[in-house]
Amino acid sequence: MDVHASAPPQRLTDGFGRRISYLRISVTDRCDLRCRYCMSEAMTFQPRSEILSLEEIAALADAFIARGIRKIRLTGGEPLIRRGVPDLARMIGRHLADGTLDELTVTTNGTHLARHAEALHEAGIRRINVSLDTIDPDRFRHVTRWGDLAKVLEGIAAARAAGLQVKINMVALKGLNDDAVEPMLRWCAAEGHDLTLIETMPLGSVDEDRIDRYLPLDSVKRDLEQRFTLSPLAERTGGPARYWQVEELGVRLGLITPLTGNFCDGCNRVRVTATGKLYMCLGHGERVDLRAALRSGTPGAIDAALDEAMALKPLRHGFRIDARGAAPAVERHMSVTGG
Ligand code: SAM
Ligand code: SF4
Repeated sequence: MDVHASAPPQRLTDGFGRRISYLRISVTDRCDLRCRYCMSEAMTFQPRSEILSLEEIAALADAFIARGIRKIRLTGGEPLIRRGVPDLARMIGRHLADGTLDELTVTTNGTHLARHAEALHEAGIRRINVSLDTIDPDRFRHVTRWGDLAKVLEGIAAARAAGLQVKINMVALKGLNDDAVEPMLRWCAAEGHDLTLIETMPLGSVDEDRIDRYLPLDSVKRDLEQRFTLSPLAERTGGPARYWQVEELGVRLGLITPLTGNFCDGCNRVRVTATGKLYMCLGHGERVDLRAALRSGTPGAIDAALDEAMALKPLRHGFRIDARGAAPAVERHMSVTGG
């Protein structure tokens, strides 16, 4: 026996015994929209010189997969505005074919989906999330500040034609789309999409007070139950959503409730930024610099950084939206770490 042979790297497990199997990669923090709850109108983005190359991102994905990551989501910012992202998907997608990765997926605002849908499917992607907070064109333009709903709908149609299953993500926003939940449910039922509602989270400064837009999903659910039968589903897709079947419409409804229903006990996720910083929790600042580890070229440097990260993962976020004028939980916008 070779006593010098090093032990194979361990699967990623944090200090609380949670297995980490899901990686979200923000391929850019930039975006072609400015959703009011996500970004301020005048955003400062990370300098381009700091951004990892696509090959570096793929190398990091390889390192995570070797440590037991089974699901990867490409996100941002808007992932499809970065040139070459379908190539990145192809590089990571190789692991789907050899069985070391269960799922590769994308979260997109859909504006550039029409021209990329087929390439994403060819890379092995089968399900995508498209963020859409309303299907009213004028309101869509208002929420996104200048977005064109027609482009998103065209992107969704192209995705379906390419064989991608689409889940719609809708952030619930008081005074902006609280009356749009039922129309969205009906539209999703007619189009054959699942719908997931998300509570707004206090990440980064935006141009309005979050308390004015915070809509707790427990109240949205109670409201829906006055009109529909919501049957709980045991099914999970590896993320934080809990699912219900809306019997009368035949549509699956997911709820992501960071504020009204904490899900941190079962957290299996970590996030890498476009500059290679690994964040262990959306709601905290602890991070590890994977770019430095990668560029050091030192054997074992990335594994050592991942081990350090696991010890730093906090037990839970501390999000609250209950006071006017409160500072965000973290200064980082969602677009930096990826939703
Ligand atoms: N640009 C892509 C998109 O919009 O789908 C991907 C990145 S975006 C940051 C990912 C998800 O985070 C979207 O569904 C978006 O609605 C959601 N999101 C952004 N800011 C949020 C916030 N403060 N609270 C809750 N969800 C947020
Ligand atoms: Fe862009 Fe997505 Fe944020 Fe909207 S939610 S501004 S589309 S990153």
